[in-house]
Amino acid sequence: MGIRPIVKYPSPVLREKAREVEGFTPEVQGLLKDMLETMEAAKGVGLAANQVGVPLRVFVFDPRVQEGSPLKAPMGIVNPKILEASGTILWEEGCLSFPDMELKIARSERIVLDGLAQDGQPLGGIELDGLLAVCVQHEMDHLDGVLFIDHASKLKKEIALKRYLSRGPKEHDHAKAHF
Ligand SMILES: [Zn+2]
Repeated sequence: MGIRPIVKYPSPVLREKAREVEGFTPEVQGLLKDMLETMEAAKGVGLAANQVGVPLRVFVFDPRVQEGSPLKAPMGIVNPKILEASGTILWEEGCLSFPDMELKIARSERIVLDGLAQDGQPLGGIELDGLLAVCVQHEMDHLDGVLFIDHASKLKKEIALKRYLSRGPKEHDHAKAHF
């Protein structure tokens, strides 16, 4: 299929809780491949399956955005789990499903990520921090139907959504990190 359209807020699939993947079927492999292509085309740092309209527990991300990352190539994660989380970090986040909106959100600064890599092998617990830890938490939220706006204060959320919904489709500012 190749590049798939990215679902934009307020599409209902963004509020769906994604299901666990039960096997590496050709459909799941095709989804992973397409999501990697779609993320690259959108110049995103991460992308969750709900964002291409598929409520399965799959996300892709690109660890190359962070210098010294333990991972060196864009990768897909299936049935991800955060085993540990610590510290707090504030990050100006963008979301590929909310063109041209950034919000400063507090997340855990360090996480240990588990799940299956795109080849079906267990990750075995990878430590990530900073931008990559933020990205993974953002994607894990997507898989639970949670959006970055939900982490902002009620007032900030209302203002940002009013602005977003009133101005019609916009392009992304690719200089910023979008997930
Ligand atoms: Zn997002």
